[in-house]
Amino acid sequence: MHDEELPILGTEPLVVEFANTLHGGEDFLGTAELSRLWFTTAGARPARDAAAARALRDSIHALFTAAVTGTAPPAAAIAHVNTAAAQAPTYPHLTRQPTGELVADDRGTATGDAALLGALAAACAGLLTDGRARLLRRCETPDCCLFFVQHHPRRRYCHESCAHRDRQARYYRRRAPS
Ligand SMILES: [Zn+2]
Repeated sequence: MHDEELPILGTEPLVVEFANTLHGGEDFLGTAELSRLWFTTAGARPARDAAAARALRDSIHALFTAAVTGTAPPAAAIAHVNTAAAQAPTYPHLTRQPTGELVADDRGTATGDAALLGALAAACAGLLTDGRARLLRRCETPDCCLFFVQHHPRRRYCHESCAHRDRQARYYRRRAPS
């Protein structure tokens, strides 16, 4: 884990970091305070309704788990993500840069939690359908299991600290008297 207190890798899309709030038997959106701390640390505006954020996180977590384990995605989770995304429709807004380059940013009319959770739901739908689903991985350290998008084919751990921990554990297992 990158952060000593929160499971925020700092390398992943926000929706992946969001799914990772369920980590090591702990729910980092479990209370209103934790939820506020997580959103702020992750660089997002905190959700007003921590329970709604947690419920959406559970659905996204279920879909990501299905993607990495190759199991059927639960219908209820799909329906939940669709409902959240529909509450905050966005559209791309093109702008011409001084260099002549065109850039698009997402605009929408929803505000507050609808916009925040809608954007996370839309990002989940995007990640699972734009080719990145097959790159979604879980950290190989047995007690970690954080999700990450494997942009480097040899990446097996969420973070270098986990790779180090796993190497150490293997070393001590080999040395342990049998
Ligand atoms: Zn890890």
